[in-house]
Amino acid sequence: MIRIAVYGKGGIGKSTTVSNVAVALAEKGMKVMQIGCDPKADSTILLRHGKEASTVLDLYNKKRQDLKLEDMVQIGYGGVVCVEAGGPAPGLGCAGRGIITALEKLQETGAYETYKPDIVFYDVLGDVVCGGFSMPMRKGYADKVFIITSGENMAIHAGANIAMAVENFRNRGYASLGGIILNRRNVPREEEKVQELAEDFHTKVIGTLSRSELVQEAEVLGKTLLEVYPDSEMAEEYRTLAEQILEACREEAPC
Ligand code: ADP
Ligand code: SF4
Ligand code: MG
Repeated sequence: MIRIAVYGKGGIGKSTTVSNVAVALAEKGMKVMQIGCDPKADSTILLRHGKEASTVLDLYNKKRQDLKLEDMVQIGYGGVVCVEAGGPAPGLGCAGRGIITALEKLQETGAYETYKPDIVFYDVLGDVVCGGFSMPMRKGYADKVFIITSGENMAIHAGANIAMAVENFRNRGYASLGGIILNRRNVPREEEKVQELAEDFHTKVIGTLSRSELVQEAEVLGKTLLEVYPDSEMAEEYRTLAEQILEACREEAPC
């Protein structure tokens, strides 16, 4: 099982990218699980065609020991297994701790054994790399971390913080950095700036996505671009990125 955590600044395109890559991998016959680890709880919304999803934390708060795996999971487009960890009410509790509680509940109810995913994506907010949000890379959930960024300064800054967190944990058997994904916003010197970020952390830009209006047109329909425009150039970019992620996982120690 390949286990990947995708981090990046809020709004940079993590959930959209992961959802499209998930569909691209499902097209290849892989069993994919996508776990939203962002209190926004909208990671898998495009795969669920906008349908409501109860978060693991809400369900756990209501049901406690009666919580069942099937309550926490929805099967989305392409057969992608969708989960939203959720978060505490704004201003109350630790969002990072909430994510870990949610991941523990999935493990306890046998989610990985039941669905037998070939690949699991943890889609994690990366504006804050506090102890809480770094849990998926530290607690044996993810083996590789990919950072999504544009060339915008705030996104690069968030990316550098995430890379630093991964580096700080490097020798402790935690997740390692798989690489950086550039999601273009078409700002000046974009490729150069993201390349510099990669070099600073001895990693590579493993893939690049164009900014495409079709992504947002598909979003208005509540769907992934791969579902709405499967023959578009952008769909090919997501398929290529899916291959590049698999390749980056193969390059080093088992992913
Ligand atoms: P995050 O999960 O990082 O918070 P989202 O995936 O929700 O970000 O994306 C934020 C917005 O950016 C969405 O409206 C999405 O459609 C848009 N977006 C993401 N990637 C692209 C792209 N390559 N081209 C155009 N729009 C994009
Ligand atoms: Fe917030 Fe992170 Fe502190 Fe938890 S560990 S309370 S998520 S800053
Ligand atoms: Mg998101």
